[in-house]
Amino acid sequence: SSSQIVVLYWHRTDLRLHDSPALEAALALKPSVFIPVWTWDPHYVYRARVGPNRWKFLMECQSDLSKSYTKLNAKQKLWVVREAPQTVLPKLWEKWGITHLVFEKDTDAYARERDSAVIQMAEKAGVEVVTRMGRTLFDPDELVRKNGGKPTMSMSQVERAMEKIDGGKPARPVETPQSVPDPWKDDQMNLSDLDHEMADSNPDLNAEHRANEDRQYDEIMGPNKDFGVPTLEEIGIDPSSVQAPHRGGESAALKELSQFIADEEYIATFEKPKTSPAAFEPQSTTLLSPHLHFGSLSVRKFWWDVQDVMERRKKAKKQNAGPPANLPGQLLFRDMYFAAQAAVGAPFARVEGNSVVRFIDWHLQSKLVQSEEKKNKKHRKGTEKGDENILPARDYELDSSEAEEWFQRWKTGRTGFPWIDALMRQLITEGWIHHLGRHSVACFLTRGGCYISWERGAEVFEEYLIDHETACNAGNWMWLSCTAFFAQFYRCYSPIAFGKKWDPNGDLIRRYVPELAKFDKKYIYEPWKAPIADQKKWGCRVTNDDKDTASGKGGPQVYPKPMFDFDERRQFCLDKMKAAYDVGLYGNDKKVLNGEWKEL
Ligand code: FAD
Repeated sequence: SSSQIVVLYWHRTDLRLHDSPALEAALALKPSVFIPVWTWDPHYVYRARVGPNRWKFLMECQSDLSKSYTKLNAKQKLWVVREAPQTVLPKLWEKWGITHLVFEKDTDAYARERDSAVIQMAEKAGVEVVTRMGRTLFDPDELVRKNGGKPTMSMSQVERAMEKIDGGKPARPVETPQSVPDPWKDDQMNLSDLDHEMADSNPDLNAEHRANEDRQYDEIMGPNKDFGVPTLEEIGIDPSSVQAPHRGGESAALKELSQFIADEEYIATFEKPKTSPAAFEPQSTTLLSPHLHFGSLSVRKFWWDVQDVMERRKKAKKQNAGPPANLPGQLLFRDMYFAAQAAVGAPFARVEGNSVVRFIDWHLQSKLVQSEEKKNKKHRKGTEKGDENILPARDYELDSSEAEEWFQRWKTGRTGFPWIDALMRQLITEGWIHHLGRHSVACFLTRGGCYISWERGAEVFEEYLIDHETACNAGNWMWLSCTAFFAQFYRCYSPIAFGKKWDPNGDLIRRYVPELAKFDKKYIYEPWKAPIADQKKWGCRVTNDDKDTASGKGGPQVYPKPMFDFDERRQFCLDKMKAAYDVGLYGNDKKVLNGEWKEL
């Protein structure tokens, strides 16, 4: 009947049933028909860089959620729809007689654009839209408002802003639903006849067109026409390319969280700078980040479970670690980056037009600046000495093919610095590395070695990380490259000493760079210093010689020599960073946007 409430619940950043304010709002409408969907957004499928490990994690989250729905109601599941939301949602509204569309608010730049288009279409179609925040501790827009409308660029700004929202505490988690209403009956859910309806109203439609439409609507429902969760094969990924041991899904997330929470000493004394980047199986931090990314874990539940442990201990007069190094502090960093991104918008994830990022004349610039470079072919070499307003970029110009080679070697874990290579290989195969490991490789690529743009590094992380989150990735890359959030560029990570401090035996290296597994710990961080006889004994030659590299099967393994002299590069970077800071250009500077920084 026309008074029925038919809710389309659109899952995006919230692949969970627990603590979901949006899902709670959807069920509070008391729908007689309830259809939870996930739309196969081509933006994610084709534009974003998503490696096999993240795909698998996503599908595990979807399968788990689908099963949880079925447990609550045997007729229910997650209805996976294979088409862009902008085009498929209007079809679904019409076909399924939707009265309400409900989803979790998303402040990512692309999401805002997509959602406002969807909301407009919904309003036109007479579908009521309900949204709720649930992805972060605080609504990023609210944090920005309480920060005077400005991007949150430091933890103290976040702390001051959150004090003005409900006394600085996020809302408590809401109840997990114990039941969900039915969807339509199977034949009413089926989309196969969408085309026939169209055909009926259009007698001119020819047979070929009709067949095409048929295929298209069948595709929306998936190969089995059952709206099932896709398999890796369906989206063209070879399952054997997935190597990450990390499991997706709300059930796994809640289990992992509860195991940590049970260890009160760990939770309450957690201090990020004291956790080892070299630890694996188990890692030294929670590894809950991919669950927060896909919303298979509620960040508010994480925060409050931790907070409750700390409160109990406080009453028992036991020691807790303080912010921002403790666990609540870690979650606030996440909120800081989300709010900064919400304020800056799309430019937050790049240099071009970004008001908070310092412009640095990296060897390899972002794509925009590169194309500007091509446009401005004539460029001056060198600059007048003593002119403080000039970036001495051309003085140092490096053959960009050399920098490109460094970039490729960094990306594939073949820099010749075992600590860096081990971390990059861990990233590629498993999709997650410790925060200080990310520090090491990000500093090395940018201001502490290669002097290559942070945007190039962020792209690599975007592809490989299972926890890739645009706000956190771009924000941390800016932090590490000292282009925003952090400015102490003279504090640089050594690719040798830093790892050695945590892991003198080099266990992380032995694990991820197995060709060096037999090296004595004396040489494991600097294998090029090992005597040739020892290299032979330990079964691996450290060489850049092509003949050695080509030794092939059966011969000794090879590992490259360092791709540059680190001390030399550190000094180069320091000089360059100082000069760039003196000039003080930002990503939204006219000189940068017009490519004039080269012509200065
Ligand atoms: P824990 O130490 O257990 O912390 C708990 C949670 O707090 C994390 O799950 C995460 O949600 C949040 N958190 C902790 N540190 C940070 C931080 N510095 N910034 C934002 N949130 C934080 N994190 C992402 O979630 N996605 C990314 O794409 C991402 N890219 C990064 C890129 C670089 C160059 C660097 C240096 C850091 C990046 N981080 C990113 C932040 C951080 O490294 C990870 O959140 C953290 O290592 C995840 O592991 P964990 O869950 O064990 O963290």
